[in-house]
Amino acid sequence: MYHHYHIPKKELPLGAKPLGKMAVTRGYTCMNCGRCALACVYKVHERSTADPRVMAEPNSYLCKNCLKCVETCPQRALTVRISPDYEALGEGIWTPTRVTTIWNEAQNGKLPVFGAGYRGMFVGPGYDSMWTDMSEIVRPTRDGIHGREYISTTVDLGARVDHLEFDPSGMLLTKMPKTVEVPLPIIMDVCRIPDIGPKSQEGLIKAASALGTLLFIPAETTLPADLGEAERCLVPVFTSGLTSVRTISSPRMVELEMFPTWKEDLVALKASYPDAVIAVRIIVSKGIEELAVELISSGVDVLHLLYDEQGREKGTERLAKDSLLAINESLAKRSMREKVSILASGGLAAAEHVPKSLICGADAVVLEQALKVALGCHAGPNCPVCPMIDSTIDADFAYWRVVNMIGAWRDQLLEVMGAMGIREARRLRGEIGRAIFYEGAERDAFANISGGA
Ligand code: SF4
Ligand code: SF4
Repeated sequence: MYHHYHIPKKELPLGAKPLGKMAVTRGYTCMNCGRCALACVYKVHERSTADPRVMAEPNSYLCKNCLKCVETCPQRALTVRISPDYEALGEGIWTPTRVTTIWNEAQNGKLPVFGAGYRGMFVGPGYDSMWTDMSEIVRPTRDGIHGREYISTTVDLGARVDHLEFDPSGMLLTKMPKTVEVPLPIIMDVCRIPDIGPKSQEGLIKAASALGTLLFIPAETTLPADLGEAERCLVPVFTSGLTSVRTISSPRMVELEMFPTWKEDLVALKASYPDAVIAVRIIVSKGIEELAVELISSGVDVLHLLYDEQGREKGTERLAKDSLLAINESLAKRSMREKVSILASGGLAAAEHVPKSLICGADAVVLEQALKVALGCHAGPNCPVCPMIDSTIDADFAYWRVVNMIGAWRDQLLEVMGAMGIREARRLRGEIGRAIFYEGAERDAFANISGGA
């Protein structure tokens, strides 16, 4: 029976008064005339419910910085400025705008609208130095940008065959490799959150199951006994010497952490899980192209590449964008690209980073920090308490906030693919011809002027 993939969403705010961009303050000269309440359509200014003769504290988080109230106030009592708490959010590529954008996506599952008033950056490091070719957006059909065409975000993880062989009677001779199909190229990972609270973990397992995606989890994790169907979304991650641990009965995929003894560990893992897709997680550093070839030759089906949360390789200056492009090209030149799937994690701070990562060569992305931000993390040194380890977090809260955010990211992927004229996420992988890279654009524009250098 045909099943239409749909992600249900539910409005769920972070708290009663979340942190917004603006701080609105009312000075002592206020005479409680209430004109600001009439001027502000966003309900920042309201009378106190306890004593309607006076104005309540402004609901700063609702302010859109239009300055109408400031202009209206006869007493010049109002000040609107960027909140210092907002400016302290995030670090590096995790800008305050990105952190609050994820908070909003996790709250309502809607696409962010920046519009003509967008005053953010248009170029930055890594994925922010590339743009997708949206030329199809100027050719809308009568049904809108996407028309009636179905856009699939489904991807297959594992090795693929590049040709089929048949015997003279027409029987298929090629042994089809194992693959895991996921309905969206977004996977979750909690292995780098060692003290994750049981409720957050429960919410994330539920979210992965509802989304039909996968969740990487340490193999030795104690799991609830009644997981049922949700167990299918779990990918146990094994460290050296623990390849026979079995907390999940028949996982579709298993993953090995790279250790100096990986060759022996890999043999043991394959023997323990002969029916599972085999993945290896690697902290990406110098020499990754050669290591990828060696791993594929050893029968690894999925390379899970870990960049840090700023999207950097370990010990080098190379960013995920350039690293993925180099790995993809190196494997394609050796005719090995179809023998493996690539998962990219780290440096994924915005929905647009998903299609960009795929264009650079990933088959799917793996979210870690974005999951924390969805639950309220500040993504920087000023985060008060990690919501993932906060035992007071409710499982339903974790579930809906993550489902909302991933739902919004998938909607944005659909928008980008529709505008690019690409109807299948599988075809987005490595489509560098459909992207503009800052370095290339700069070279094309200025190379001749600066003498071809
Ligand atoms: S308009 Fe000015 S004086 Fe009147 S209530 Fe608002 S802040 Fe106070
Ligand atoms: S600046 Fe505009 S949105 Fe903000 S409180 Fe004043 S009137 Fe409301």
